[in-house]
Amino acid sequence: MKYFSINKNTDLTSFKEAVIRGLAPDKGLYFPEKITPLSERFWADIDNYSNEEIAFETIKQFVLPEIPEEELKKIISETLSFDFPIVNISANISTLELFHGPTMAFKDVGARFMARCLGYFNTDISEEVTVLVATSGDTGGAVANGFLDVNGVKVVILYPDGKVSDIQERQLTTLGHNITALKVDGVFDDCQDMVKQAFLDSELTSKMQLTSANSINIARWIPQLFYFVFAYKKLYRTKKDIVFSIPSGNFGNICAGMMAQQLGMPVKHFIASNNANNVVTEYLETATYNPKPSVQTISNAMDVGNPSNFVRILEIYNHDFDLLKKNLSSFSFTDEETKQAMTELFTKYGYISDPHGAVGYLGAKKFVQSNQHVHCVFLETAHPTKFLDVVEEVISKPIELPEQIKGVMNKPKSATSIATYEDLKNHLLSS
Ligand SMILES: *Cc1c(COP(=O)(O)O)cnc(C)c1O
Repeated sequence: MKYFSINKNTDLTSFKEAVIRGLAPDKGLYFPEKITPLSERFWADIDNYSNEEIAFETIKQFVLPEIPEEELKKIISETLSFDFPIVNISANISTLELFHGPTMAFKDVGARFMARCLGYFNTDISEEVTVLVATSGDTGGAVANGFLDVNGVKVVILYPDGKVSDIQERQLTTLGHNITALKVDGVFDDCQDMVKQAFLDSELTSKMQLTSANSINIARWIPQLFYFVFAYKKLYRTKKDIVFSIPSGNFGNICAGMMAQQLGMPVKHFIASNNANNVVTEYLETATYNPKPSVQTISNAMDVGNPSNFVRILEIYNHDFDLLKKNLSSFSFTDEETKQAMTELFTKYGYISDPHGAVGYLGAKKFVQSNQHVHCVFLETAHPTKFLDVVEEVISKPIELPEQIKGVMNKPKSATSIATYEDLKNHLLSS
C-alpha cells in the first residue's frame, strides 16, 4: 500500500516511511492511496472470525508486505490482549467499553500497535527514532506504556500543565527509562502546535528522526478501526441499523470507524459527540470550518479546538458536504449536561461512566430520539477512575481503583516544565 499526503505536494510513500515520518514533508497527513472493501461474504459471516482474524483481514491491505504476514499476526495478537465488551444500556443504546487495556483508554490499541510496528522497522534502521507526542490526557499514558523499553525509540510527551487528571499525569510521568514528560504552560493545542512545528524544523529533523504517535500517525490511527468491527460482529445478527456515537476530540477514533465503513462494514451513521469544543458541530450546521482555541472541560481528552483528523474525514467523503452530512451528525454538550448524563446512567441504569463516555451517551440519546429504528453504540473511551474527582463527585460514591491504576499511584512524578517552542527544541537537541 502506498500513502499520499492530503496536501498533495509530495510523492507517494510506503507504510514504513509514513510510520517513521508521522507527518508528510508537505505537512499533510498521510492517507491510503486506495481502500479496497472486503467481500460481502466476509461481512455476512463475520461471526465466524476471531477478533485477531478480523484485525488481520481488515488491516492487511494497509500494512503488508512491509511487515510480513507472520509478523503482522504477532503484532495484532500482542496488541489485542484484552477484552472489548459491549454493555447494554437501554432498548436501543449500548456501550462499547474500550478501557480494558493497560492504561485504561482506547488509545492503548493504537499505541501498542504502532510501538510494535516501529520496533519491527527499527531492527533494520540504524538511527534512533524520537517519538514526539502531544497529549490531551490519555495518549501520553498509552504511548508511554506501549513504547516503554522499545529498542531504538525515545519518547517525548508534551502535556498541558494542570489540564490532565492526576491519574493521567501519573501514567505518563512515572515510567522513566526511554520516556520523558514535558509539561507545557498552555493548552493541548499549544502542545500539538509545538509538535507540528518540530516536524517542520529542518535544523531538528536533520539531526534526529522524529515521528508522531498521535492519531496523525497511520500506525496509531488505522488499527482503531478494529473495535468498531468487533462491536459490529457482536451486534449484527440481532440489531438492525447500527450507528456509533463517538466522543471526539482530535477525531482520530471516529475517522477510524469511517475507515471500517469504507471497508464495507454496513454501518448506518456516525455521531461525533463533543463537549464545548464544537468546531465540527458548527461545521455541519454552517459548512464553515472555523477552528478556535480550545476551552477546558471535564472531558479534557476532547478539549481540542482544531481537530487534526478533520481533513481525513473530508477525504473519506470526497469533500462532498452532502455525503458527509448523510453519514455524520454532530452534537455538543456542556459540562452540566455531561454530569447529568453521568448521574442518569448511574441512577437509572446502574452504569458508571466517565465524562467522555457520558458525552457519547448524550449524543446517542439525542440521535435515537429522532431515529427510533436504530441501535446506537456509544464508545466508552476511558475507565471512570481516570477521572476520579469528577466521577466520585457526581455519583457521590467512592469507586475502587483497578489494578492497572493502583500500579502508578505511589510512584513519583517526573516532568520538565517548558513554555515555548524554543524550550522544546533545546530540550530535544540537548538530550
Ligand atoms: C483521546 C480521547 C478521546 C478523543 O478521541 P479522538 O480520537 O482524539 O477524537 C475521547 N475520550 C477519551 C477518554 C480520550 O482519551
